[in-house]
Amino acid sequence: MKLAERIGAITGGGSDGWEIYYRTRDLLAAGVPVLNLTIGEHDVRTDPAILAAMDQSARAGNTGYSFGPGKQELRAAIAERVAAQTGVATTWENVIVTPGGQGGLFAAHMALCDPGDRALYIDPYYATYPGTIRATGAVDVPVPTRSRDAFQPTADVLAAHAPGARSLLINTPNNPTGVVWSRDTLETVAQVCRDHDLWLISDEVYDSQIWDGAHLSPRALPGMAERTLVIGSMSKSHAMTGSRLGWVIAPPEVIRAIAVLATNTTYGVPAFIQDAALFALRQGADFEAAVAEPFRRRRSLARAVLDRQQAVRLIPSSGAMYLMLDIRATGLSGAAFAERLLEQERIAVMPGESFGTAAAGHVRVAMTIEDRAFVTALERLCAFAAQRQAA
Ligand code: PMP
Repeated sequence: MKLAERIGAITGGGSDGWEIYYRTRDLLAAGVPVLNLTIGEHDVRTDPAILAAMDQSARAGNTGYSFGPGKQELRAAIAERVAAQTGVATTWENVIVTPGGQGGLFAAHMALCDPGDRALYIDPYYATYPGTIRATGAVDVPVPTRSRDAFQPTADVLAAHAPGARSLLINTPNNPTGVVWSRDTLETVAQVCRDHDLWLISDEVYDSQIWDGAHLSPRALPGMAERTLVIGSMSKSHAMTGSRLGWVIAPPEVIRAIAVLATNTTYGVPAFIQDAALFALRQGADFEAAVAEPFRRRRSLARAVLDRQQAVRLIPSSGAMYLMLDIRATGLSGAAFAERLLEQERIAVMPGESFGTAAAGHVRVAMTIEDRAFVTALERLCAFAAQRQAA
């Protein structure tokens, strides 16, 4: 029997770029010790107090069908967080609760793009972006960036890709680069969106993980609130990756359109998870800062190690749980470097090539293991790179 072409087109049938990750998982399962810097997930679990709120809600009977767009109280709490963080007036009518940020990314493209529409995204990118866009029937178009620009898009490249496109997906703080885009970059993005009448989809799931300065949402820039959809999530800010609770912020008519999609696809997010999320949001910004703290600390530890050597170059990173390292001085591709590092040193990092073509010759390091092991892993990675450079 024949499957739909659309489903095969999601990955294009090629490699999904996660070979190192799968191999690491197999090695760990076989009892081989590997320092695993591939995973974009906290090394702590969801806080027990949040789990208690979840348990209490479920036991109180909140286990039936939940209302599609999310509980109004939760939508209001999310709106309040967004308004406080960005200064843009936001009410519950601007919010829909989705199964994770990933559910929001899919819903946003479904709502904005018709089959065949060109949907832009920035390379390097979070691994699911092209597949998510293709799953909607839109045509995924990567917009390249350069290492020397800290992988931030420039006005000319954006303007060259914008004509005829429907939407632009951006992500800051960025996965995989750890870069927090500058105000200049975001103003350029906003200008291009206004000039070419593009929808902007702004993935801000790392908005609580910024080490220098404050988060700037492009929705706050002039003329942008009416054309911007912000993707948010409890996954990173509250260490709730498994709870699958995210959201889309958008003009009310877009939210209503996504609500129709939700009724006919996900049927909403479980009510006891929504109650846990509401409890978690009420813990305030200090709680979010505490969840982010290990990454802030490890970024400093990493800088101390990397400042002492010349074989690898750190892309100036100031957010999210990642560092991007330029390893081109070793003469290896990111993929070859990652493979050899795993074989010889039992350290797993993601090749830059797994996130598009722009980050070739780089590797992504997730700061998601305990401090001492993290420092050891980086020291050994640098020594390995220095040996390769000398060879
Ligand atoms: N966007 C980015 C940039 C991510 O890194 C992730 C998860 N790694 C997501 C969206 C999706 O996260 P979730 O669905 O758990 O909210």
